[in-house]
Amino acid sequence: MIVSPTADNIRAASKIIVSGGTVVFPTETVYGLGANALDELAVRKVYALKSRPIENPLIVHVKDSSQIQLYTDLSDSEVKSRLELLESLWPGPLTVVLPSNGSIPDIVTAKQPTIAVRVPAHPVAQELLNECRVPIAAPSANPSSALSPTSAEHIASELKADIILDGGRSKVGIESTIIALIGPVPLLLRPGSLTVEELQEVLKEEIADVSESPLHIEGESLISPGMLPKHYSPRTPLIFIRDFNPSGQRSKRVGYIGFKAPPEPDQFDYAASMVLSSNGDMQQVAANLYAALHDMDGRSLDLIVIDDCERSGIGKAIMNRLSRAVSQK
Ligand code: AMP
Ligand code: MG
Repeated sequence: MIVSPTADNIRAASKIIVSGGTVVFPTETVYGLGANALDELAVRKVYALKSRPIENPLIVHVKDSSQIQLYTDLSDSEVKSRLELLESLWPGPLTVVLPSNGSIPDIVTAKQPTIAVRVPAHPVAQELLNECRVPIAAPSANPSSALSPTSAEHIASELKADIILDGGRSKVGIESTIIALIGPVPLLLRPGSLTVEELQEVLKEEIADVSESPLHIEGESLISPGMLPKHYSPRTPLIFIRDFNPSGQRSKRVGYIGFKAPPEPDQFDYAASMVLSSNGDMQQVAANLYAALHDMDGRSLDLIVIDDCERSGIGKAIMNRLSRAVSQK
C-alpha cells in the first residue's frame, strides 16, 4: 500500500517497524526497504522480499551520529577522529563502515566484524527514525540486482512491504558513497554523489579507492561483498552508445539516453529518446539516471543505449553503476 507521509502514516510505519514488519521509505539517495536492525526475523524478511544473497550486508540507518557509538567499537582513536570529521557530512548521502561492537545481529552485517552506518537526510526518513527509536537496516527497495527506485512508482509490485511511504523523487538519485574506516587508510568502497575529492578535503588525508577491485580481509571475506559485477540493471538489454552498431538494428525498437544532448538526427531512428541534463550538470545526470532507465524499461524496447562519461567527480559514481547495469558481454 502506497501512502503519503502524513504524521499518522509515519506513526503507522513506525509501529510496523517496531513490531517486526517491513517499510519502504524515501531517502535522498534512493528508496529503502527497512526493518528493525535489532530484530533478526524482521531483517530476514528484507532479504526474502528482495531475493538478496545472505552474504550481502545491509546499511544501518540511525537518526543522528550520537546513535553510532551504540553499535560500533570506537576504541581505536584513529577511527574515532576520522569518524568525527566525517560526521560533519551527516545527515547526508554518506555511509561509513566501522568496527562493530557485536550488538547488531549477524544477519545485518553478513557475519562481518564491521557495520555500515548512515544518517539519512530525507525528512521522512528522519521522522520515521525519530518515531520508531530503533536503528533501521535498509537496502535499496528493489529486487536484488534490479534498478534502484528513486520514486514510489518505481517500487516493483513483487516487493511486498507492509507499507510504502511516498516521499516524492529522491534528490540525489544514486546510492550513498561508502567509505570504510577499518584499516590504516580510509577506503572508498562505493563512489556516490559525495566525491572522493570532497571526502579527502574533510578528512585532510588521502582515500584509497578500492571501489572497482574486490578486496579481501586476510584472504577470508570480501570487504564489500555486495559490489558484484552485475547490479542496478533494467530488464531491457542496456549498452553504452559507443558499443552500438546501428547497421542490422533498423527493425529494432531502440531507446536513447543522452547525458547532455539528444542523438544526431541522421544517426538512427530511435523509438524513444531522453536527455538527463540539457546543461550538462552531472549531479542532475545522476539524479535522473534511474528514473530514465525505469521509464525506458516500461516502453517495450528491444534495446536501450546510453552515454558514458569520464570517471571523475560524480562521473565515477555514474560509471560505477552503469558498468554494472549494462548487459554483460
Ligand atoms: P545497498 O543497501 O543495496 O545500497 O547495498 C549496501 C552495500 O553496502 C552492500 O552491498 C555492501 O557492499 C555495503 N556494506 C554494507 N555493510 C557493509 C559492511 N559491514 N562492510 C562493508 N560493506 C558493507
Ligand atoms: Mg541496492
